[in-house]
Amino acid sequence: MSASSRYDVLFAPVRIGPKTAANRFYGLPYALGPGMDQDVERAAAHYAVRAEGGWAVVTCGECTFTEDTRWLGLSLASDEEAAAMARLPEAIHEHGALASLELSHPGAIGNGLDLRVPVLAPSQLQFDAAFFGRTIPKAMELAEIRQVQDAYVAAAIRARDIGFDMVNVYGGHSNLFMQFLSPFYNQRTDAYGGTFANRARMWLETIERVREAIGDDCAVVARIAVDALGPAGVDLDEALGFIRAADHLVDLWDLVVGALDNSRVDLTPSRAYPEGYALEWTGKVKAHTAKPVAANGRLTSADLMADLVRNGVVDMVAGARPGIAEPFLPEKIRSGRFLDIAECIGCNQCAQRGFVGSIGCVQNPTAGEERRRGWHPERFDEVDADELAVLVVGGGPAGLECATVLGRRGFGIVHLVDARPALGGHLEWFSRLPGFRPWARAIELRTQRIERLPNVSIELGRRLGAATVLGYEASVVVVATGAAWAPDGLLWATHAPIAGADPALPHVLSAEALMVEGKPIPGRRVVVVDGEGELVGAALAQHLVAEGHDVAVVTPWPVLAIHAEHGGEAPILRRELLEAGAVIHAGLVPVAVDRDGVTCLDEIGREVRIPCDAVVLATQRVSQDDLYHDLVADPDALARAGIVAVHRIGDCIAPRLLAEATFDGHRLGRLLRADGQLDPDPAL
Ligand code: ADP
Ligand code: SF4
Repeated sequence: MSASSRYDVLFAPVRIGPKTAANRFYGLPYALGPGMDQDVERAAAHYAVRAEGGWAVVTCGECTFTEDTRWLGLSLASDEEAAAMARLPEAIHEHGALASLELSHPGAIGNGLDLRVPVLAPSQLQFDAAFFGRTIPKAMELAEIRQVQDAYVAAAIRARDIGFDMVNVYGGHSNLFMQFLSPFYNQRTDAYGGTFANRARMWLETIERVREAIGDDCAVVARIAVDALGPAGVDLDEALGFIRAADHLVDLWDLVVGALDNSRVDLTPSRAYPEGYALEWTGKVKAHTAKPVAANGRLTSADLMADLVRNGVVDMVAGARPGIAEPFLPEKIRSGRFLDIAECIGCNQCAQRGFVGSIGCVQNPTAGEERRRGWHPERFDEVDADELAVLVVGGGPAGLECATVLGRRGFGIVHLVDARPALGGHLEWFSRLPGFRPWARAIELRTQRIERLPNVSIELGRRLGAATVLGYEASVVVVATGAAWAPDGLLWATHAPIAGADPALPHVLSAEALMVEGKPIPGRRVVVVDGEGELVGAALAQHLVAEGHDVAVVTPWPVLAIHAEHGGEAPILRRELLEAGAVIHAGLVPVAVDRDGVTCLDEIGREVRIPCDAVVLATQRVSQDDLYHDLVADPDALARAGIVAVHRIGDCIAPRLLAEATFDGHRLGRLLRADGQLDPDPAL
């Protein structure tokens, strides 16, 4: 049972068909990214940590089962692949959790490019998310419906045979079964389209056949998005109808909301979706089923979770991101270690990374590095370095994480110094932009951890130059001085500053001049220039709208915040900006700024003039690395000062995602030796 009886309800077992989950924590599936899915041992190590952290069910994500649909995730299309995947349930079982597998067919989301075969879907309708590339599928013929169902059953049998306890006959994320159920994707006129009963047939038949094949040995789970929250799927009434129709075949309902259509509601970033957002819909399901339900919603509050189970709203609290950020969430709630919980901030950088390389997390830099680098979120190699004084210059995400890890490893004296009066670096002001408050938890988590480490101290409001650092009596210096937005408008489209963008002029403001220095804006009309295509340009524009300005945003990219698409923020920000009356100019290259406006060039070089009173530049971040270079330029001075090593981390090397800054700080914290030098990075 738990340290406080209030949470005991979360630690009672629950029966799921032929299996019993030891507690109420249900680990949802997610894609680990191609880098990890092609290395089953790496994936197994990741899931094993989650099982060790106390999740009663750990679901391995995004497993396709036909040759033509193999994409980001795992694949169970052959016996050979099954043999390799056996390591996943084995690793999860080592920690006493149930191993579940999400078997997924992407339907129209797939691309078929590798094998050069057409993508199969209920109807020949182009998928509505540019996000996944351009796909016009082939409408499935009856024989293909049977083939997919046969392949599904064969894969479910393989999953059982290699040791999975549960198979998730997966309909979430707008994949094939949801496409059949949805009149938006399914415009068939045969027995698999039209009426609700017809649209439900494909999924129902598959669940029935999977149950027949493996139902005595494995729990049969179905994930359903109970409301697509947009045009792209079924609404709550139809979803409840499906749940009633399939209830006798399913051992547990895995409930989510949203779809992977162009609105990207499925990814639910925190600035638009607070904790528990999905319960408005998922919370209505219990009355329609006799089976246990697991529901998500970026649930991280133990009190809310306990209430949900106690009040019978859900039987299990489900989480993907909360468990990536804090694999030990169940165990820390059980043992009352609340202050040490790394709460998911809903930034979706895990998803952004999961689409390209491998998963990573702002809050948990060990995610994805369990095997490759041998990192465990709760275990650190202790060091015998009582006398070694480490100075960390910069209290942004990288410096904070580094100081935390050094403190946890037992370095005797760790000083963190920052020029500003508040910790957090760029994240401090970024999290003050509209809706981004949850991101500040990344600063608070580290600050709280440092407060409990007597060997780490913090000094704020002190800018260190090379001379001060040399006189600091440190043995090791870690430079974490970060990056700043180019004050002259340096832009990728021209690889040059914007003419007239002189930061000394009153109408030219960089992001930091506005948010950190509080430089006033001379007038009402503002043009924000977004260069990186990430969140900052759009978020600054929103801030300025909220301050009462008439705002236009200009970006050379074809859409605003193009690189924030994978995190799900971009469409929401664009919609909110337009609703608030801002104007978005995409595909224009700003080339000159003057007192009355910004001059841009369109794709064929025609001038477009946007009048304004001031311009806010969020074109590109530039590393602030002067301190590092000043220090290493004079090795004799370092030797005289007793400094044995100068290292650098985070954005002062190159400005990257927030998850990379905390990763970089964490890595240095892990690699630093008692002699001040670094162990080699095991992954390089
Ligand atoms: P990162 O994301 O790499 O942590 P940030 O830019 O967010 O980088 O944070 C860098 C921090 O370093 C900022 O808070 C800034 O005030 C601080 N800083 C930069 N230069 C100095 C300096 N010379 N002395 C003290 N602090 C500094
Ligand atoms: Fe949560 Fe962000 Fe970590 Fe993803 S990267 S799990 S959204 S904190």
